[in-house]
Amino acid sequence: MRIERVLANNPGPYTGPGTNTWILDDGSGKTVIIDPGPIDSAHEHAIIELLSGRHVEAVLVTHTHTDHAPMANPIAAELSVAAIGHAPGPFFDPDERVAEGSSVPVGDISLEVIHTPGHADDHLCFRAGNVVFSGDHIIGGSSVMVERLGPYLESLRKLKGTGIERLYPGHGDEIEDADETIDWYLAHRLERHAQVKDAVEQGAGSAMEVVEIVYADVDKSLHPLARMSVEAHLVLLSEQGEIALEKDRIVQNSPETP
Ligand SMILES: [Zn+2]
Repeated sequence: MRIERVLANNPGPYTGPGTNTWILDDGSGKTVIIDPGPIDSAHEHAIIELLSGRHVEAVLVTHTHTDHAPMANPIAAELSVAAIGHAPGPFFDPDERVAEGSSVPVGDISLEVIHTPGHADDHLCFRAGNVVFSGDHIIGGSSVMVERLGPYLESLRKLKGTGIERLYPGHGDEIEDADETIDWYLAHRLERHAQVKDAVEQGAGSAMEVVEIVYADVDKSLHPLARMSVEAHLVLLSEQGEIALEKDRIVQNSPETP
């Protein structure tokens, strides 16, 4: 098995150094492309060049965010293979849909599909033996933006203790200590959850007011990004019965008095 990265030229606050496109080869030249990234002709050219002399079997998409999926359909059409993902989304329409328990053959390798909702509802990880392509579920060097926190925590716990030796993320470098990283992600999210709850108890009445308290030491340009994660924390607090959400306002649930 051989794994190579082609880094897209789309660095930024949402994408770190850029999107990682992973090329997985079974060792005999049978290959899949994972997350071809945004539409970018230089990036497409770099991918195609690396594939020269190999037999491409499919194009896989971890999730439909615009830094991962838009080039999947065009490059799959160009290579006359299927674009495979969990569900249609912005700029992506899978030729073949896969879900938890599906597998995708890559020559001698069977790539196992793991549904990991949270960062996005349609998020998949792909597992080949003891390595996992983790998309934006777990990335190198930082935490991720979370759309739905309850499912996200479940999706982290789902991978923990399953013998993963290495993660190949959608952004940043390979991760060697998967379980340690998952523990850090869980601890980080639970710490943020407690901080969000504290901020609400201190009187923050909206997601942005929570951001200003919890992310006071983070550059203001990142506050809109932080807001998305705070909203996910607030939804979980409301599911836990701690608060009620009325449009943009947070209403604290007062403890029941006998
Ligand atoms: Zn994403």
